[in-house]
Amino acid sequence: MTNQEHGVPADPADPRSAQLAARLAEVDRRIADATTAAGRSSKPNLIVVTKFHPAADVVRLAALGVRDVGENRDQEAAAKAAEVGDPRVRWHFIGQLQSNKAKSVVKYASSVQSVDRIQLVDALGKAVARHMDTSGRAGLDCFIQVSLEDDAGDHRGGARPADVMSLADRIEGQAGLRLAGLMAVAPLGGDPGSAFEKLAGISEALRLVHPGATAISAGMSQDLEAAIKFGATHLRIGSDILGSRPAVG
Ligand SMILES: *Cc1c(COP(=O)(O)O)cnc(C)c1O
Repeated sequence: MTNQEHGVPADPADPRSAQLAARLAEVDRRIADATTAAGRSSKPNLIVVTKFHPAADVVRLAALGVRDVGENRDQEAAAKAAEVGDPRVRWHFIGQLQSNKAKSVVKYASSVQSVDRIQLVDALGKAVARHMDTSGRAGLDCFIQVSLEDDAGDHRGGARPADVMSLADRIEGQAGLRLAGLMAVAPLGGDPGSAFEKLAGISEALRLVHPGATAISAGMSQDLEAAIKFGATHLRIGSDILGSRPAVG
């Protein structure tokens, strides 16, 4: 598949490609600096969050070497994955997910990072098993999204820390699902460092029981340095690479 099919100019001087390349380089420099400052030997994985940006930008990013992209809405992600049609690109689902969308998500996603309840685990397990039979796809990596809100806060953005272990056991009980680890978003207005430190503690407890669940997906444009300091293995960076998201109506 050539870039032309996606309406992307083959001209390497395409200004949008040049802009994405420059922003990627800047983010990569921040990641490298934070990795060194944390005394870590290797950089975390970068997932470029492309939500609200067109498929053509994913094609440009792929040409620049990006292999992991993140999306938070099934309808948008499914359409974009089909339009990009590049088997080198892995799609990571990072948004709130209704169980009835599981069947759609397993058709394109290599991971779901927002697993937050038993019902969703069961729906994903069933959907991926069926899809593995018909398509030969590999298993689905699952990250349990943990809420880092104070206990008084609402927990719509993830499971309560107390529920992580039962979710982990449930994921491991499904043949097509692989427990990768944890995902979290730092609470608005709080100190991201203390939130990610708490996440690191939950991860340590999880790994005592599930030693393979080593992934920690944390860190966005504003707080990637704090996430790296506290052990993030995956970063989800959107606006600092793609620019601000177009307003939606
Ligand atoms: C949008 C989004 C991101 C990326 O955030 P930026 O601030 O644009 O880097 C990361 N994680 C989740 C869950 C998101 O929804």
